[in-house]
Amino acid sequence: MSMLAMDAAKRWRRVHGLINALSWDEFLPCIGITVESVDLPAAIPAVLVRDRVILLKRGLSRESSALLVWHEVGHVALHAGGAAFWTSSVGGQHLLRRFERQAWTFALQFPVWQSDVLEAALNGLASNCEIPGTLALVIDDLARSSHQRTRLGLA
Ligand SMILES: [Zn+2]
Repeated sequence: MSMLAMDAAKRWRRVHGLINALSWDEFLPCIGITVESVDLPAAIPAVLVRDRVILLKRGLSRESSALLVWHEVGHVALHAGGAAFWTSSVGGQHLLRRFERQAWTFALQFPVWQSDVLEAALNGLASNCEIPGTLALVIDDLARSSHQRTRLGLA
């Protein structure tokens, strides 16, 4: 569980309020990010360029697009300087995997997801491109921690 990403998501909710996950196209201009639909290889459904432009694979569902866009916003929120800068340092590959987990955590925790929308997003990703292993890990983690909270009577 990435506490850094959980804290960032909480902070963003305090600053920006509750944003519906599907409303990213209204929200992104407020933080100076634009999204362009382009043709991308299946293995790379979205790319972040200079923390300002998200290139998004054409033809994905509205729900899957939202999940990918929020993941890239997570990188902007958490990883200033970009992956190329960080991975060039010692231990870069390990860092990159951690960054991926953190960006997925942010994507699931900052915007508000209706459960059917999230399910559609995951199904859409599974059929259009591989669901990244790091996303599966984060979903497991979050499910475990909310189960834990329920079990302890905290939620
Ligand atoms: Zn990423």
